[in-house]
Amino acid sequence: MTKKIFRSILAASAAVLLASLVIVMGCLYNYFGTVQEKQLKDELWLAAYAVEESGQDYLEKLTLRDYRYTWTPDYRLTWIAPDGTVLFDTVDPAGQMDNHADRIEVREAFAAGESRSVRYSATLTQRTLYYARLLNNATVLRISVSQATLPVLLLAMLQPILLVGLLAIILSAALAGWMAKRIVRPLNSLDLENPLENDAYEELAPLLRRIHQQRRQISAQVRNLQEKTDEFEQITGHMKEGLVLLDNGGTILSINPAAQRIFGVEPSCHGQRFLTVDKDHSLYLAIQTALEDGHSEIRAKRSDREFQFDVSGIESDGLVIGAALLAFDVTEQAAAERSRREFTANVSHELKTPLQSILGSAELLKNGLVRPEDIPRFAELIHTEAARLVALVDDIIHLSRLDEGAAPPKEPVDLLETAERAAAALRDGAAKKRVQISVAGEHIQIDGVPSFLYEMIYNLCDNAVKYNVEGGHVDISVSGGKQGVAVTVADTGIGIPAEYQDRIFERFFRVDKSRSKASGGTGLGLSIVKHIAQYHHAAIELRSDTGGSTISVVFPPCGTDE
Ligand code: ADP
Repeated sequence: MTKKIFRSILAASAAVLLASLVIVMGCLYNYFGTVQEKQLKDELWLAAYAVEESGQDYLEKLTLRDYRYTWTPDYRLTWIAPDGTVLFDTVDPAGQMDNHADRIEVREAFAAGESRSVRYSATLTQRTLYYARLLNNATVLRISVSQATLPVLLLAMLQPILLVGLLAIILSAALAGWMAKRIVRPLNSLDLENPLENDAYEELAPLLRRIHQQRRQISAQVRNLQEKTDEFEQITGHMKEGLVLLDNGGTILSINPAAQRIFGVEPSCHGQRFLTVDKDHSLYLAIQTALEDGHSEIRAKRSDREFQFDVSGIESDGLVIGAALLAFDVTEQAAAERSRREFTANVSHELKTPLQSILGSAELLKNGLVRPEDIPRFAELIHTEAARLVALVDDIIHLSRLDEGAAPPKEPVDLLETAERAAAALRDGAAKKRVQISVAGEHIQIDGVPSFLYEMIYNLCDNAVKYNVEGGHVDISVSGGKQGVAVTVADTGIGIPAEYQDRIFERFFRVDKSRSKASGGTGLGLSIVKHIAQYHHAAIELRSDTGGSTISVVFPPCGTDE
């Protein structure tokens, strides 16, 4: 702005100075021209008088250039007879001169007594002014003077003109610089934080009022925007899912804390290319696909967890301006899907084996291929397999109910009483193996589902009998403490090898398949126990060696159960 003002003032002042120069010179030229004309006229009068008095003598004396006069006059006198013949001329011999009758000033002087005219030289560098006057002897006396024309004069004065012009420009520049600074200084010191408190130029008042208004509007908009940003960050900050917003070039515009954890990056990665943050090409391709086609999905692992990445293109006015990437942790879901698939395969297999055995036995019986004394053995086999099938189907139904998240209402349950009922149901079977079951402990109540808790203790106790040795015993105890309420089933059985202890709670896992089947096991008992424990927020502890196994289910202390 300073430069612009400087240039404008410089141009204006230079123009004014130059125009003044031209005008002044024009006026002076005009003034001196008028003065010269007046002098010329006066001299003609004097000369006319002298010629009328002395005739040619006066004129000849003028041309003598003798001892008295070192001065040569600028003007020229020409004496012309009535027929136009030059009688005398102060410059050229009269005889050599043309007839002057056609000269305009001569013609008009003969006609009107006096005349004036101006003629320019062929090169326009000279301007000659003529005055003619009719004398009383009917002759005409003419006086003339030549002077340089204005362009010639200007050319002659070029040096001083240029000097003056240069001085004018230097002066204008200094003046313009000073004025530009003076004009701009108050503008530079304007307090735009408080526009209405400025007292610079009156003309700026509307502008300052407008700035004040706009500042208020902008502050309100910034506040609004900040609130929205805070709200957005508050929401995305608490999201479990990772959210990354990208522009159409794949640069990160926003990344929430969950996404920072997933990709293992710092919040400072804003503005970086996504490919530098996550080098997986398949995810990069998914982003490109979403930018081109609107949507894409992939599953991929990040830091040992499985994620579903949903990428959607963001459009504005029909143009794709970026993409939103949502990352869901599907590790548990994927594991559940896997175990469901395995479970289905296992169930089919587990159902098929007893059914085949029943079918085979039944066919032999139908075709009369079984000796009469073997019929009871076959009937027993069919019964055992059918019973196993029923137990299996019961367990499957139970498990699927638990899987579906069936949540029967909880009520106070006496664990010792429940353990006694389970023990009573198993005592006859245990007696056959000469295994003794004992129940001890306190009558402690917890909030739970009675049928679930019964089933849990029954399964643990059933295993303790099944995998026991002849003459062994099973001790069930219920105890309470700071850690919570524990139901413990300890046996003197074969124990579980250390390498399988982590796996026995998996569905259909058995350490010794044939032993499990022989004792009517389905391989689902401990899975059901695990499920029921989880449902009651209880922890399972297992200690086992070749001398027997102890499994405790520890329920959280009263009041902490969620
Ligand atoms: P199963 O119907 O085969 O008993 P479970 O799920 O109840 O199925 O148990 C899984 C496996 O864990 C059993 O097959 C068995 O090998 C082992 N097991 C469970 N409880 C005991 C125990 N008290 N002593 C020894 N092994 C056991």
